[in-house]
Amino acid sequence: MRPSARRRGLRQNTLDMIFECALFILGLAFGSFLNVCITRIPRDLSIITPGSHCPACGAPIRWHDNIPVLSWGLLRGRCRDCRARISLRYPAVELLTAVLFTACYVWFGPTWLTVKFCIFSFLLVGLLFMDAETGFLPREFTYPGIVLGLAFSWIFPTDSSATQFFLRAYEAHLSPVQVSLLDAGAGALAGAGFFFVASGLYFLIRKRQGMGNGDFALTAMAGAFLGLKLTLFVIFLAPVMATVYALIWMVRQASDASRVRTSLGQTLQSWEVPFGVFISASSLGAVFVGGAVWQWYLSFF
Ligand SMILES: [Zn+2]
Repeated sequence: MRPSARRRGLRQNTLDMIFECALFILGLAFGSFLNVCITRIPRDLSIITPGSHCPACGAPIRWHDNIPVLSWGLLRGRCRDCRARISLRYPAVELLTAVLFTACYVWFGPTWLTVKFCIFSFLLVGLLFMDAETGFLPREFTYPGIVLGLAFSWIFPTDSSATQFFLRAYEAHLSPVQVSLLDAGAGALAGAGFFFVASGLYFLIRKRQGMGNGDFALTAMAGAFLGLKLTLFVIFLAPVMATVYALIWMVRQASDASRVRTSLGQTLQSWEVPFGVFISASSLGAVFVGGAVWQWYLSFF
């Protein structure tokens, strides 16, 4: 390698590292904001006022106790004033968001895709934890998410190969932007439609609601961001994850039920699947490995 080329390579590496560090710190900050959203939006509280305070004693949190991850570690997960436990969710959300932001840059480099998938990751982490904690998937996150997903497909046309496959010859009549928008729309409709039909069938069999409107809005959002091809990946993976979770849960309940003398049937009746958690998690999977999994799958044909 010529010295000038090596110098250019070194400079590129340094630039990449600076961007990765910046995105990690940005991710920590956005994760910290997500914690406020996760705690307050499902309870219909303002995310602006009052400022951060201890949920147990109400004492305002000092700025130096509000540093993402670090403060939680230094205070050993307790409030400085009343020593009440502070959930592990706070540093976990901050760290997860930071890792996902950095991963977006590592995967997609200095492109619009990094911006797009950082926003997508932010929304998904928020929805995942809100559904896990409260069973709500607030429209404050899902509806703007659908609009943003469609807007990004318009600004920055992405891999629309699945839609192109269905369009066949008709594709020649459309511009790349139109194909990309169509692909995002198809992803949104396929995602929401699939789970809508599945929950309809579930209702016919079990006579009770399996999924809610929040789940359909979440899959529509994921479809708009991911496009049709990766949405099919989510449609496949989310139910698999939910089934594995349900099996583990049933085994644990079966061993508990013998102790507390409630029948397994009764416990199952009252059980709700946090489906939003699995849709969010598999959508995150789709961003980073969905394309590779598709390639692997298609290599068999
Ligand atoms: Zn406190």
